Amino acid sequence: MSTVAADVPVFPAFEQVFQGFAGQIKQLREMAPEPRLSDEVRVQRAIDTLIAETNADEAVWLESCIRCGQCTNACHYFQATGETKYAPMRKMSLYRKVYQRELGPFRWWYRLVTSPVKLKDLEDLQELVYDSCSECGRCAMVCPMGIDTATLVHHQRSALVAAELVPAELAVMRMEQKHQGTVFGASADALHKMIDTIRAKAGIEIPLDKPKAEVMVLSSAVDLVGNGNGLLATAKVMNHMGVDWTVCSSAFESANFGLLSGDMRLWAKLVHPIVQTAERIGAKTLVIAECGHAYPALRWNPMLKGGELPFEMMYMSEYLGRQARAGKLRLRQLKGRITYHDPCKTGRRGGAFEEPRALLKAMSADLVEMPANKEYNWCCGGGAGIFLLESATRLRDESFKIKMQQVNATGADAVVVSCASCRLNFESGRFKNHWDKRVESLVELVADHLVEGDRVGSVTPIQGAAA
Ligand code: SF4
Ligand code: SF4
Repeated sequence: MSTVAADVPVFPAFEQVFQGFAGQIKQLREMAPEPRLSDEVRVQRAIDTLIAETNADEAVWLESCIRCGQCTNACHYFQATGETKYAPMRKMSLYRKVYQRELGPFRWWYRLVTSPVKLKDLEDLQELVYDSCSECGRCAMVCPMGIDTATLVHHQRSALVAAELVPAELAVMRMEQKHQGTVFGASADALHKMIDTIRAKAGIEIPLDKPKAEVMVLSSAVDLVGNGNGLLATAKVMNHMGVDWTVCSSAFESANFGLLSGDMRLWAKLVHPIVQTAERIGAKTLVIAECGHAYPALRWNPMLKGGELPFEMMYMSEYLGRQARAGKLRLRQLKGRITYHDPCKTGRRGGAFEEPRALLKAMSADLVEMPANKEYNWCCGGGAGIFLLESATRLRDESFKIKMQQVNATGADAVVVSCASCRLNFESGRFKNHWDKRVESLVELVADHLVEGDRVGSVTPIQGAAA
């Protein structure tokens, strides 16, 4: 729990925030939109989407699976249940069928010997590409053919968007972000109120809407409507470093339910105001809040088409890790043994492994790695929006047990995470299993271990902080 100097709690502890979110998530199912299109149109739209998403990479992946089964044990949903339908290679079966019937060189043959795709096939696909694939990329690490199942799964999510088969919770969040521009009601007003609350209760200033700033910081809905500690911690750390930073009313949200649902158009649309705002204020760096999927949503957005941007995008832990290496952070020792959970999207898929560890080293942390870590880290089971899905509860809970075993093997008192979705999922697992480990946010730990009164800019780099 974050405190001010007098040790007065400013906001509730995260476990209380989690309980509030759990209540909100339950209500989402009742608000789900009904399908509007005929079955035939829904099926055709799904097929057309898969055809449109198939480029050379996808065609090679769909052609080259040798059914060796190496990926099977790499997937936490298979490991946790032993059910072969959750093997990664099964998650591309429908896509392969569409490819073979519509695009492959022997399509004339496959049209003779296979049945057309039906709505029931797409309904069955929903569990495979939403509930049982967090797009973690672990299976791709072991595939001898280099098949990226997560990407194939993501294209199938897009096909299910077209077929009006997005799971209820993601469908509601997608519609809210599409039509109101908010997530869980986290509007610009909520941002302003949170900034006022932080100033009034903690005496911490958050520079809002500066016309020019070197660093633009994105917050997240969890921070704005629940966990005020996240934004408070960010502000404490940025102010400590003396950074020229700002939060902007025109673009402050990291979450992207376009990406999570598979709605490519919404994904691109949500990135526009962020990029435009960063350009307008002349930011050199865009810092993305502790929100795992926001990282690929911004870093690999299709609208950017690999083009050059006048600013660098970094995840919070990536940015702070670099600052620690540069000697911009003076931190007290972190007591107790800890382990670190790499969010799949920023770690395995983003490569940001060393920076969070540099931060922990800067706190002289007793860091013990899990038996499988970094590239081979196990997903917590809740990524890619799965933490929201009631239908995925069994899969999520069972796969979380792998994570618990991994953490327990370290003998750590606490597991440090740097993604709000992972944190919610860990909190859920902790609650359900009466698990005795603490779950800590990396940015909040950094804020709580700043050497008060010390100012930045010119401090000597901390021994051991460099990777
Ligand atoms: S990307 Fe992750 S969750 Fe999806 S099939 Fe591969 S290992 Fe399983
Ligand atoms: S490891 Fe690769 S080639 Fe082997 S079954 Fe899995 S996807 Fe196919």
